[in-house]
Amino acid sequence: MLDLTENALAILERRYLNRDEKGEIIESTEELFDRVAKSIAEIDLVYGAKEEEVAALHDRFYHLMTSLDFLPNSPTLMNAGLPLGQLSACFVLPVPDTMEGIFEAVKNTALIHKSGGGTGFSFSRLRPKGSVVRSTGGVASGPISFMKVFNTATEAVKQGGKRRGANMGILRVDHPDILEFIKCKEDKSELTNFNLSVGITEEFMAAVRKKETYPLRDPIGKKVMGVLDAAQVFKLIVEKAWESGEPGIVFLDRINGDNPLQHMGEIESTNPCGEQPLLPNESCNLGSINLARMGKDDGRGIDYEKLKEKVHLAVHFLDNVIDANTYPLPEIEARSKETRKIGLGVMGFADLLTLLGISYDSEEAVTVAEQIMKFINSEAKKASMNLAQDRGTFPQYHGSRWEKENMPLRNATTTTIAPTGTISMIAGCSSGIEPLFAVAYTKVCMDEDKLMEVHPVFKRLALEKGFYTPELMEKVKKLGSVSMIKGIPDEVKRIFVTTQDISPYWHVRLQAAFQKYTDNAVSKTINFPRNAHVKEIEEAYFLAYELGCKGLTVYRDGSREGQVLNVGEVT
Ligand code: UDP
Repeated sequence: MLDLTENALAILERRYLNRDEKGEIIESTEELFDRVAKSIAEIDLVYGAKEEEVAALHDRFYHLMTSLDFLPNSPTLMNAGLPLGQLSACFVLPVPDTMEGIFEAVKNTALIHKSGGGTGFSFSRLRPKGSVVRSTGGVASGPISFMKVFNTATEAVKQGGKRRGANMGILRVDHPDILEFIKCKEDKSELTNFNLSVGITEEFMAAVRKKETYPLRDPIGKKVMGVLDAAQVFKLIVEKAWESGEPGIVFLDRINGDNPLQHMGEIESTNPCGEQPLLPNESCNLGSINLARMGKDDGRGIDYEKLKEKVHLAVHFLDNVIDANTYPLPEIEARSKETRKIGLGVMGFADLLTLLGISYDSEEAVTVAEQIMKFINSEAKKASMNLAQDRGTFPQYHGSRWEKENMPLRNATTTTIAPTGTISMIAGCSSGIEPLFAVAYTKVCMDEDKLMEVHPVFKRLALEKGFYTPELMEKVKKLGSVSMIKGIPDEVKRIFVTTQDISPYWHVRLQAAFQKYTDNAVSKTINFPRNAHVKEIEEAYFLAYELGCKGLTVYRDGSREGQVLNVGEVT
């Protein structure tokens, strides 16, 4: 029997276990992990491994996942070893300024969503609203109207799917339609299947600081079409983010500065949750180490030997996924195999802190974050270099930054911090690098039942320290926070600090700490209390910029209806 929570089993049954044509479940949870382990291990045959080596690897991959030390992203769990075989979570598609190109991208988006992937786009290449369309003599309707077409297509494909189609839409801050873009979620019924981010440039940030204007440029030919007051645009972005959490921001120039593949062109977009900047037509598969399982048995520190072993095995796993993958389009297959990007990250960070007895909102937590991620990033690189010795470097290695740094890598990027929205539920740990959202919470899964869980580490600690009672657990479920409950020792309360009680400053500090040692980007929500002031959001944006983050997503409690996670019981 696998050590899975009821919540995890419910999720697996509902969406992950393989079914026959009649919709009947035809595999057990063990069989799911075996199917994935086998199909990913078998790739080693292509690289000359013997049958018995592959059998041993199959076994190791199986234990890597069933121990819940590591899980790959959802599409790999759902589809590996099955005819569909689409294993990646992240895609970025190009949107060119032609009618054919736009609708080709809409079609490709539908194909990717059907297979469980999420898509990101830059709409910055589209000519602005009101420009002349030469072939018809008419006027162009602009990027936002085309985004609505993508949104409607996503809505249609969602029906009957295992996973919501998710999109990221990015528009550069110097696109002439930027004001419409920033305001387009004022109507809450618009673009509901999109996350929106403004692509921020260094030129813009400099103008904000100096309180100057900055130019808007025609995407075609780059002619200056007007100017805007940078500080006012920045203020508008902040106000809208305060109202609805959107748009977020991505620091495009910074992303491109860090891009190890500058010889292949510019990165214009990320995947839907922002953690994976990609070139047009690139895809990436993610996987996350469960840090809740990387503490030493005596609770004193991190088991770095264990962590190292898991990182090496996980990198091997993710590199194999690139070959095992059935790609939705030939151009995506070609691009993805040229760069062989993988994104190894973490989940259960907040759980680990509880094991170590550290509060999330502390310098100690920042230090732990930097130490762990530095270690993972460096071991992931070593693992990727080991693979390159047998399998060769990624085909676009020549001309890349890695070549200049004399690091013969198998993968152009190795680390990414994903949100781990579902796989952390399967692993029964806190999601990604987020603080504990609550000590008990409900989660709406695909708009169905609300599932209730008390935090497993809290439960265990309550039993160990002898303050467990069913009544107390009920109270925790009801309130979602332990700060006001009597009978819980203060030191326990301190380490079970939840999102609502953590200031935005610490949220940003932790995001920056992980970003420092992550090749790609970090998915993180900077939570604000309901009564937060607009100014505080502005401060968080500046802090993120100063600390080297690649983007920022903020959320003010209660500002969006249909919130996925709710603190405590909803009655
Ligand atoms: N994603 C998606 N639809 C979803 C959830 C996720 O397309 O419903 C994509 C999206 O690109 C996101 C990425 O998967 O950025 C990783 O999300 P997460 O880590 O939450 O996925 P999990 O593997 O936990 O399901």
